[in-house]
Amino acid sequence: MSEFRQDRMTGEWVIVAPERRRRLKRSSAEAKSHEPALQFDPACPFCPGNEVELPSITAEVSVAEQPGWQVRVVPNKYPAVKPDTSQTVDLTSYHRAIAGVGTHEVVIESPRHDADLASMSSGEIEAVLSTYRRRFTALLDGPGIEVVILFRNHGSASGASLAHPHSQLIALSMIPPWLAAKERWARQHHSCVTCEELELERRDGRRLIEETLSFVAMVPFAATVPFEILLVPKRHCGSFAEIDNVERADLARLLQRALQRLRFVHGDPPYNLLVESASRDELATPHTHWRLRIAADLVKWGGFELGTRMPINPSCPEEDAVLLRNAIAGVEADRFHDSAVGHRS
Ligand SMILES: [Zn+2]
Ligand SMILES: [Zn+2]
Repeated sequence: MSEFRQDRMTGEWVIVAPERRRRLKRSSAEAKSHEPALQFDPACPFCPGNEVELPSITAEVSVAEQPGWQVRVVPNKYPAVKPDTSQTVDLTSYHRAIAGVGTHEVVIESPRHDADLASMSSGEIEAVLSTYRRRFTALLDGPGIEVVILFRNHGSASGASLAHPHSQLIALSMIPPWLAAKERWARQHHSCVTCEELELERRDGRRLIEETLSFVAMVPFAATVPFEILLVPKRHCGSFAEIDNVERADLARLLQRALQRLRFVHGDPPYNLLVESASRDELATPHTHWRLRIAADLVKWGGFELGTRMPINPSCPEEDAVLLRNAIAGVEADRFHDSAVGHRS
């Protein structure tokens, strides 16, 4: 059983999950032994045929053009939190700790070990986004759940322990203080700050990457890392759970292009993809506005950042936006070259 533990000296919370130590040993061994990625890896628990390695299968999604499953949902074998209705709360002793209650799921995005969101078809990415939305909604409706964190780690430097393409959802029974502070900040304004920011950025244009029917892709004004990308829905909406079918199709294409742009300007860097969505308390308020953030792992936190929680971005957001905006011409030239080579071979 994991525990949420509060640091009495700072008020910050940590999840202590010793079961995940086994995952660390396994991932360092796998990182050495399975390069480069193959279409099928006999040692990978997420590859078809290795189901005996999975705790169970929660859901499967297929797409029209392919046989079998395209997206699969499974419980995390080494969960950071676990569902448990007999939660114990220890508020009386010196140290404050709460049982690590919640749900930790994995979305296996493709049966292919070497697939990647950046190179999947729009239909395949839509199947992933549709699974995200279904599981996000199901977990947020779980008893005692306050917030669902949906994320994807790409590359071992970003925290991914398995090369097979996958994302994760962690449903928590508490709102992490950083999220609570972000929602408090949004509540201090009379209207939605993200809607205001979108209007301003679309007029200004310097940090815009691309605009579609339903979304804006942009580099944030105060980007924390080089080539940080936000995909923001134009429709004001607090929760990712409310994305509609038109927005989902639009987001699939935009996300694919955003990842291709990042790959073109920085050669497939490790990154974290996050769906930032309202906690249960804020779902219906006019203040919060969901968005998708892609943060390349190009800068490691050092002593200053640990001491201040204030990242130093060694890049210029406006210049990053120019490179990402112009990258699509290079992406399309690469695609043309690949298809021409494919025709010749
Ligand atoms: Zn695999
Ligand atoms: Zn808004």
